[in-house]
Amino acid sequence: MNEADADYLVSRVRTIRDFPKQGILFRDFMPIFADAKAFGLLMDALIDALPVPAEEIDMIAGLEARGFLFGPALANRLGKGFIAVRKAGKLPPPTKQASYSLEYGTAEIEVEDNLIEEGKRVLIVDDLIATGGSAQAARDLIEQCGGTVAGFSFVMELVGLDGVKKLGDYPVESLMKMP
Ligand code: AMP
Repeated sequence: MNEADADYLVSRVRTIRDFPKQGILFRDFMPIFADAKAFGLLMDALIDALPVPAEEIDMIAGLEARGFLFGPALANRLGKGFIAVRKAGKLPPPTKQASYSLEYGTAEIEVEDNLIEEGKRVLIVDDLIATGGSAQAARDLIEQCGGTVAGFSFVMELVGLDGVKKLGDYPVESLMKMP
């Protein structure tokens, strides 16, 4: 991607101070999806920066909610299937779950059982990696289902939080790196 296109894409990310609570610098990617040019550039950039060659990916798993905005589009462009990793309680049984720690308490994520065949190589995608807790739980969940995690793609990484370290020895790509 050339510099002008990269600048255009970054210019579509809105930053909101103190949302959803005091002290959080919220990154809003909705303007990318509302703009056909930016959405196309995002898809091109994700494909250019896959953490492993496309032939080494069988399926894409997207994290609720914003991984659902581009995960299926990416899967379709690559000719792969898509799996929704949802917050607990939204998918019909049978499901498999994994939990992870939040600042206060824990959260659970789920996938529908039997969608991932044993040994399928799954690329996990989300809009943003902060502490890495949700991506790490998604990794554990995919592996619990018999899948192999091929790698991770994020639109943005908050590098200061070192979330990528939590993911272990997997290929990771983030399009935009912020402090
Ligand atoms: P974490 O599990 O800490 O890596 O948090 C990542 C998840 O929380 C992603 O699904 C993001 O959409 C969301 N998230 C965390 N921090 C932010 C932020 N500063 N702006 C927007 N979304 C965020």
